[in-house]
Amino acid sequence: MTAGALLSATACGGSGVSEVGATSDGRPEVVAAFYPLQWLTEQVGGSDVQVTGLTAPGVEPHDLELGIQQVTDLQNAALTVYVKGVQPAVDDAVDPEKSFDAATAVTTIPAGGHEHEGEEEHGHDEVGYDPHLWLDPSRMATVAGKLGERLAAADAAHAQAYRDRAATTAATLTALDQEFTKNLTTCRSRTLVTAHEAFGYLADRYKLKQVGITLDPETEPSPARLSEVAKLARAEGVTTIFTEALVSPKVAEVLANEVGAKTAVLDPLESKPSGDYVSAMRDNLKTLQTALGCTA
Ligand SMILES: [Zn+2]
Repeated sequence: MTAGALLSATACGGSGVSEVGATSDGRPEVVAAFYPLQWLTEQVGGSDVQVTGLTAPGVEPHDLELGIQQVTDLQNAALTVYVKGVQPAVDDAVDPEKSFDAATAVTTIPAGGHEHEGEEEHGHDEVGYDPHLWLDPSRMATVAGKLGERLAAADAAHAQAYRDRAATTAATLTALDQEFTKNLTTCRSRTLVTAHEAFGYLADRYKLKQVGITLDPETEPSPARLSEVAKLARAEGVTTIFTEALVSPKVAEVLANEVGAKTAVLDPLESKPSGDYVSAMRDNLKTLQTALGCTA
């Protein structure tokens, strides 16, 4: 073992006493609120930062509750990367001086187009816009650039490296955006019936129409809403009802059965997928092409 390796091994196994906002090896500690932001922060921050994900894999992020230790970690971090409106607990805990709200980096779209009963306390409604902006790769490319600038300002010694990685990441995301555009141009149907309204930005970017069964993954739709969606699905000749990994497929299955459609999984990426952001979005693209009958 070299002296350097020994040194860093010792530093990693340290007492946990460290400078506020920095790991024991001196790198800034950046907290990412949930998966797509964690992926983006890792791409842009590279080895110059230590990234911690706040939402554990497999956990639905919207209703995340923070323990005292997590609030302390978040407040001690050099930077917290989040989207205001996704997680009320995070919105309440962030230090405005040491946080980056990705929603401020892009043009947002209004929250879901229809009202649901009993959802007033849900985070989605509080900010007035749809927070699921990570499902549009072109907006993610914009966020990458702004995050690069924010990291460059927070850690001037590595400013150029942050900007370079931000540019590379933005280029990857722009290429992904072009793939979506190209493959979703000619489709038999442009209506997405989804389990919860997570795909507004994807619909906005690629000229699709989203019909969410519910606005919020935790809410059961009313019978009135279900029959409204069924009517719409029939009228638009919908052949696939989309479900997602963290939401019970029961409601979507009932609906699919009623209108004679199939179900398919469309990942809102609210939790870590089996691959990464780019591969999961490509899987989503394939699912969409098949379900909507698109020809490239
Ligand atoms: Zn959501």
